[in-house]
Order: sequence, then C-alpha cells, then structure tokens
Amino acid sequence: MNQFIPISQPSITQKEIDYVNDAVTSTWISSLGKYIDRFEAEFAAFCGSRYAICVSNGTVAIQLALTAYGIGEGDEVIMPNLSFIATANATLHCGAKPVFADIDPSNLCLDPNAIEALITPKTKAIMPVHLYGHPAQMDAILKIANKHGLWVIEDAAEAHGATVNGKRVGSWGNCATFSFYGNKNLTTGEGGMITTDDEDFYNRCRHLRDHAMSKEKRYWHTAPGFNFRMTNIQAAIGCAQLERVADFMAKRQLIFDWYKTYLGDFKGVSLNNTDAWATNAYWLICLENKSWNLESRDAFMVELKKRGVDSRPYFYPMSQMPYINEFPDTPVTNQIYQQGINLPTYFDLKEEQVKFICEILRQLLDD
Ligand SMILES: *Cc1c(COP(=O)(O)O)cnc(C)c1O
Repeated sequence: MNQFIPISQPSITQKEIDYVNDAVTSTWISSLGKYIDRFEAEFAAFCGSRYAICVSNGTVAIQLALTAYGIGEGDEVIMPNLSFIATANATLHCGAKPVFADIDPSNLCLDPNAIEALITPKTKAIMPVHLYGHPAQMDAILKIANKHGLWVIEDAAEAHGATVNGKRVGSWGNCATFSFYGNKNLTTGEGGMITTDDEDFYNRCRHLRDHAMSKEKRYWHTAPGFNFRMTNIQAAIGCAQLERVADFMAKRQLIFDWYKTYLGDFKGVSLNNTDAWATNAYWLICLENKSWNLESRDAFMVELKKRGVDSRPYFYPMSQMPYINEFPDTPVTNQIYQQGINLPTYFDLKEEQVKFICEILRQLLDD
C-alpha cells in the first residue's frame, strides 16, 4: 500500500536544525542577530540585486513595497487576474485598487499586451506575478512601465531562482517580493523578502518595517509604520535553505522531467510550458486538460485523492472573490483556471512516487 503523497512538504535537514539551535542558544531570538544580516546579504546576492529586506511574510512584503512607493488611496495597480489572493489583498490593505489584466496562456503570467488598455491617470504600478515558478515577460513589461512612468513590483513569491533572458527574477523590477512560506521553493516557516537596487527605497522599507522610528531620536516615529520584522530564528532556517538552493532548483527540474517522462502529453493533457527566454523554478507541477470544466476537474481531484495522491486546483480569478466581485475582460484567465491542477512537487519526492502518480493519472484520464 502506497502512502498518501502530499502536494508539498518542506525539506528540513540537520543544517537547518543546527542553525536554529545556534540562533536560539545565542538568545538572539527576536529580530536582531547575525542570521538576519546574513540572510539579507546572501539572498540579495542570490537574486543579483543590491539590497534585500526580510519581513514577516510575502504578503506584507508587497504591502511594505507599495507603501514605500507612496501608493495608497485613489491609486491603481495592474496585476494578473490569476494569482494567489495575497497579490490583491496586500494592494487593498494599502487602500489602492487592484486592476485585473489577463494572462498569457503559454506561461500563465501577466500578458504584456493586456496592460496598456488598463492604464489610467490613477495607475501607479504594475505587479507581474511569476506564477507557479514561471517568470513573467519582464523585458516587455518594463518597456511599458518606463513609457508610462510606472513602478514595477515583481511578485516573485513562487519563483526563487527563475530567470528571464538569463537574469534572475528579483533583479528586474524596481523591486521584487518573495515568500518563504512552508510550501514555497525556499522556506523559513513564515517569512518574506523585498529585493531592490534602489538605496532610497531600501532605506524607506527598513524604516517602515520597524514602526518608522527615527534613526537620530529613539522612540520618535515619523510615520505610521509597521512591525513587519522577521525573527533571527526564521532567518537561521533561511540561511541553511539558501546554502541548499542549488540542490532545490536542480531537484525541481528533475521532478518535472520525471512527470514529462511518465505522463508526457497523454490524452492531450499538458504539463508546465517554459518559454524559450525563461527558466522555470517549478514551484508546482501544473497539469492542464482542455476537456475539463470546474465540475469534471474537481471530480478528477477527488478520484486522485482516493488513490492516495494530493492535488490542488489552479487559483480562482481574484476578481471573483465576493468582496471584489468584478467582471474584468480576462477570457484566458476565466477559461484556464477551470482546467488546471497542481501535482505533488517537493524536494523529497522520489522517482518511484512520480511514476506511481503518473500511472494513476493515466488510469483516470483513460476512463
Ligand atoms: C505565497 C504567495 C504570496 C504570499 O506569501 P505569504 O508568505 O504566504 O504571505 C504572495 N503572492 C503569491 C503569488 C504567493 O504565491
């Protein structure tokens, strides 16, 4: 009898345990300590950006970045309609309005051709999302942003290490935000990061992260800042994970190759596409079936689970959430979200397990 295969699980080794032990026994368990500084410096280097600021999670990383650009009430931020809800929620929490654009069906990311029609005098930023590990087409997006004087904030929560034209995500936009949630490519339990080359922006983020306390005068606060700090304990896990990141990236590519070998395009289904100009961080294996609708797709996931394999549906279009309830013209999003699922993708997954998953998939697709 095979064990239940989850969609995701973190990989924790003795290295993570040793670093956490060291952080805890040092008594530097809050948000000061050597692992914080080291994690920021090493993550910035990993992305090829000048600065990095670690924060409590990937959602507040977005909120902090928007706030540091002065984006708020009355402003609009263009983003893809298909993303994890944090992209929209963080924008709403700043008082700004998410404006939903359609996606490119080949990579599930913001379609550069859908942006310009949505730009208004209120637009302040474009927030592409590197969905499921595939990067958005940053060169085309930056061209549009520069033409219209807009900030570009990459939501890179799902794509640590992915590249566009050989250059890593996190180094393309004016800034980028990352998540280190337990199911992400690299984890600190809960955690997030902002990367940037802009020194002024970096200093504003650091300031706002810690209640906007004056550098010259302690307990004097120059703005309603936040407590978005990460702990040294979390950063210790992050440092250990970052030492292993090359292995993480190689393993995710290998897992994709196994799915490709054992499932391929059986019965016309498709796995993650990677555009020629990109490398994929494969946060999650994607399986699309053009003959699915919401009902048959969800029924398929139930059958998979009965046979010991976890999966999850593509995100719903963010515009559909009851507190947003908008109907933007995003036909690609509106169709694709019903026809996709994510399959188990994590470091400790074994070839035998992927083979088993693919056998089950073939049986179910054959019915
Ligand atoms: C995970 C995720 C976030 C939020 O990160 P948290 O650390 O969970 O707050 C933001 N955007 C996207 C696209 C994500 O997948």
